Amino acid sequence: MKLLEEKIRQDGKAVNEHILKVDSFINHQVDPALMQDMGREIADHFRSRGITKVATIESSGISPALMTAFALEVPMVILKKQPSKILNQDLYQTVVTSFTKETNYELTLSKKYITAEDHVLLVDDFLANGEAATAAIRLIRMSHATIAGLGVLIEKSFQPGREKLKSQGIEVYALARIGKMAENYIEFID
Ligand code: 5GP
Repeated sequence: MKLLEEKIRQDGKAVNEHILKVDSFINHQVDPALMQDMGREIADHFRSRGITKVATIESSGISPALMTAFALEVPMVILKKQPSKILNQDLYQTVVTSFTKETNYELTLSKKYITAEDHVLLVDDFLANGEAATAAIRLIRMSHATIAGLGVLIEKSFQPGREKLKSQGIEVYALARIGKMAENYIEFID
């Protein structure tokens, strides 16, 4: 998506060869008009697939997921980062390895909101190593729902996320794909 690539060039910051900051328009301050366009673009790509729910991981996936769900006219479900020491019969739970924070956290989903009848589109802001998405898919599959694919705003294609998801049979659709980064340098791939 050219508009997103231009915005990343203009307002994004490549901190080093691994980390891109997009705080001013995606995950701290949010540009609502751009977010709506991006949600619509992801929705249009997956529109014919019979999606019943859009799911995301809190918190930076919420804005793109909400806009995608709005465009598809289906509910959005937030997979919650919650420590859940007690076994809860009403929840599915799994553990995620966080790329940015270099820690583990627990992801939970209420059994009420995704069921075996659902066909779920997963949406997130970034795809890097694919750990977050893999955990989200694991969690959603516990409900016996099916997965339509993963829509992300930014894929860092030099990291193994896409391959990891492909090997699990998951289609990835990314609005901007970064092939290479260095401090203050970003190279996109088509
Ligand atoms: P993964 O599990 O694919 O390695 O990482 C996914 C999550 O890490 C994303 O949901 C995003 O929140 C965060 N993340 C990964 N790489 C970046 C990055 O370069 N910049 C920012 N702001 N977040 C990132």
